Amino acid sequence: MKGASQMLPLLEWLRPRAAAMTRLLERFVRVESPSIDKAAMDRFGRIVASEWKRRGAEVTLLRQRERGDHVRAEWNPQRNRGRGQILVLGHMDTVYGLGTLARMPFRLARGRAFGPGTFDMKGGLVIALFAVDALTAKGRIPEKRIVFLWTSDEEIGSGTSRETIEREARRSNTVLVLEPAAGLAGSVKTGRKGVAEIEIVAAGRAAHAGLNPGGGVNAIEEIALQIARVSRWNESRRGITVNAGVIEGGTRTNVIPDKARVLVDVRAERAGDMLALERKFQALRPILRGAKLQIRGGLNRPPMERKNCAALYATARALAKEMGVPLGEAYVGGASDGNFTAALGVPTLDGLGAVGEGAHSPVENIVMRALPERAALLAGLLTTI
Ligand SMILES: [Zn+2]
Repeated sequence: MKGASQMLPLLEWLRPRAAAMTRLLERFVRVESPSIDKAAMDRFGRIVASEWKRRGAEVTLLRQRERGDHVRAEWNPQRNRGRGQILVLGHMDTVYGLGTLARMPFRLARGRAFGPGTFDMKGGLVIALFAVDALTAKGRIPEKRIVFLWTSDEEIGSGTSRETIEREARRSNTVLVLEPAAGLAGSVKTGRKGVAEIEIVAAGRAAHAGLNPGGGVNAIEEIALQIARVSRWNESRRGITVNAGVIEGGTRTNVIPDKARVLVDVRAERAGDMLALERKFQALRPILRGAKLQIRGGLNRPPMERKNCAALYATARALAKEMGVPLGEAYVGGASDGNFTAALGVPTLDGLGAVGEGAHSPVENIVMRALPERAALLAGLLTTI
């Protein structure tokens, strides 16, 4: 079933519900959910879980010891008959610590909803719930099994959720990620850089800087020389960035320091480049005589390459067009859990969530008017792909 008849009824059902969507968003934002606070995360997770239970989903809490429990909601009102699975992915955690709401309250102004996590990505959680409501109301039941996976630690690297994400992705034909859209035009993300975090640790030899300068090996100097070396690996035309972001070392000015370290953020567009960069880091050797180097860390999220999702994007764009909405695509430097699923070869379309601005900032906000359109687009995708 294709053509204008498919999308418009969904959109027409959702449009009058923009205010209801905003109210649910407010409820979600008022329950703070920093990744690093298990009790707070679990409190929010239970609210998300109950919303899915109300919609007849089979909800499982994936228990975690240190991080918040992840929420898996399988929504298949009429049990699907082995026609595959769609994974809808998102996260419940935010980068904002407990108490942020006091100085950054949820508020509405000029057609926007402001507050911590509105855009990244509680707006996406709301969009998914209303997409399901619209499909239910219109009697449009997807043929595939739909699994919604809401994780608790995306903002801190997905240490406890990655395995589950990959397991569900392997069972899926397609992954749809409800991370924020790119730009106010609401573009979806068809490419993301891969990210590695590398730690270079230098060991030197301590000595008195005045009495015995020749007896020491300066670890800070070694690290500085290494930073100069790896910074030359930046290649903006190829989409490679190498950023020394954190540096530590030394104790007093009159002591030649015997320890120093630097944390380096490495990003690349191509999987091959990422691999080559990791090898180059592993091959680093000391520059100062007597210094020792240790290289730790490595790839966190592999690149999401466009070829993985070109067809999926074309489908989404066609559905949006039926609603009279242009759907652009964007390439972004930031990584998400979509990088994991794309790396497995499962077609992954990211940035299907809220339209807005200011993620991870005091002015984070979403465009309320776009909520029904995004929910309709997701609903359309769930019954088309
Ligand atoms: Zn996010």
